[in-house]
Parts: sequence; structure tokens; C-alpha cells
Amino acid sequence: MSATRIDLHAHSTASDGTLSPAQLVRAAADAGLDVVAITDHDTTAGWDAALDALPPGLTLVRGAELSCRWHGVEPAIPLHLLAYLFDPAEPELVAELARVRAAREERGERIVRLLQADGIDVDWADILAGAAGGSVGRPHIAQALIRAGLVATTTEAFGPDWLGERYRLPKEDIDVFRAVALVRAAGGVPVFAHPRASRRGRIVPDELIAALAAAGLAGLEADHEDHSPAERDHVRRLAAELGLLVTGSSDFHGTHKTVRLGAFTTDPAAYERIVALAGGVTPVASG
Ligand code: AMP
Ligand code: FE
Ligand code: FE
Ligand code: ZN
Repeated sequence: MSATRIDLHAHSTASDGTLSPAQLVRAAADAGLDVVAITDHDTTAGWDAALDALPPGLTLVRGAELSCRWHGVEPAIPLHLLAYLFDPAEPELVAELARVRAAREERGERIVRLLQADGIDVDWADILAGAAGGSVGRPHIAQALIRAGLVATTTEAFGPDWLGERYRLPKEDIDVFRAVALVRAAGGVPVFAHPRASRRGRIVPDELIAALAAAGLAGLEADHEDHSPAERDHVRRLAAELGLLVTGSSDFHGTHKTVRLGAFTTDPAAYERIVALAGGVTPVASG
């Protein structure tokens, strides 16, 4: 028996991944994973389809990746909070997620209007159709830029001339302290996703992470493709100082990114800590 392989961060077509929830769990089994988490942006819409398709031998952790913002500096810094095993019916959290999904649509349409004002041929209805009812995001706009022949890859579409800077607009995210409190109140376990990923934009100071730990944050994602080895070490040291658990995960997005499922994994002891802290829903193992 090989070591338990646990990947706690993956996206489906319920947000900006390219595999359906059913395809995602099958791909996770094919990749030799024992545990996979479905963590779509600001939605739990993929949970049931993933559960229904769960292959034998795979355990599913139901989660989401919440779009948050820290208002301690001006302009506020966007950040991502992974939330595991929370009650998907908790009314305040449900309302906040619906509000953020609406903000995603509103902001996506504004980005498209900015592009069109510069004579760039992209169509909002096409982009929404591309998201197929899932949480719409810049990766869907990136696909429109590729279809229009303006860029060759998603990575290029996230460059400074495009969605990374020039055509980047903020959306109305959840205040990060409120998000931590809501996730905890829903019985969930909040873990800060890729906290040092400076290549994506501004990052928050360690002092904020300490304050979040005091407010109920449970863990930090250390092993992630957007972290350099030095950044991973830094996150691990900080987690040890603050008594937080550490995770590693692929942040798989299908063909919207090059990373493979299971490219980074989480230590079983950290996973067990997450399960022990959770009180919303449980991991589900297929027979
Ligand atoms: P949004 O949620 O609309 O702000 O878009 C952010 C999403 O875009 C992230 O969740 C990633 O899936 C993706 N993303 C961010 N930066 C990059 C990048 N440099 N290359 C490819 N995808 C990226
Ligand atoms: Fe994403
Ligand atoms: Fe993220
Ligand atoms: Zn993600």
C-alpha cells in the first residue's frame, strides 16, 4: 500500500475548472488520490454531482474557495480562503456566497466593456455561456481572449497588458474576518489559500495572518505552485509559530492551468486535524 495521497484544493466547472464535478472525482481516482477536495470559487454547486460520481476508494471533502478582501490597507488586498466541510445551508454564508457570485458577474461584464471600449472583440454573453452557470471569473474572459486570437494561453491573458493589470477590476469580496467567522459558524474549517503567492499580486503581512489565526483561521496552504521553495518554508515556519496546520494542494483547474491533480499533497496528520475540527458535513468515502 502506497502512502495516502491527499489533494485539498481543486476546481470544477462549477467555477473556473474545465472538468465537471463528476469528471473531477474520476480524474482524482485516476491520479491515484485517496482524498480530494472540491473547492470551487464561491459556490457549493458542484458538491452533489461530485458525491454522486464518487469512485470506489476515493474520499471526497466538500469545500469552497471564498473570495475575500482585507481592508487593512488602501486599496484593500484580495485573498482566497479555503473552507472545508461547512454546512452548505447556513443562511448567512449562503447569502454571502450568492452576493459574491453576483459581484463576479457584474465585474466580469465591466471588464468586457473596458475591453470593448479599446476595440477588443469579446462578447459578454459568450463568456457567460462559457461559464455554463458556474461562478464566472477572469479565466472565462481569458478563454474569450484566446478565442479572439489576442493571446495564446491563459497565462498570457493574466499578463499585465490584459487581465493581470490593465483590464483587472476589483469585485465586492467578503471581508476576510467576516468570512473566517461565517465559515466557523457553519461548522467549517478555514485555511488561507496560497498566502504568499506574490506573483499573483499584492500579499498580506504576517501580522494579518496572526490576527486571522486569533479570529479562528485553522491553517495555511504552504505547498502550492505559486509559492517558491523559500515562500513554502516561510509559510511553514509561520504556521508553526501560530499553531496552524499546513496543507499542500494542486489548485487543479483542468486545462485552464498546467498543474496536475496531486502535484502537491497534504500530510495525513494535517488532514485529520481538519476533519476533527469540522462540524458542518463529513468527508464521504465511496464503498
Ligand atoms: P477571479 O476569481 O476572476 O479574480 O480570477 C482569479 C482566478 O484566475 C484564479 O482563481 C485562478 O484560477 C486564475 N488565475 C489567476 N492568476 C492566474 C495566472 N497567472 N495564470 C492562470 N490563471 C490564473
Ligand atoms: Fe480559479
Ligand atoms: Fe485561489
Ligand atoms: Zn483555487
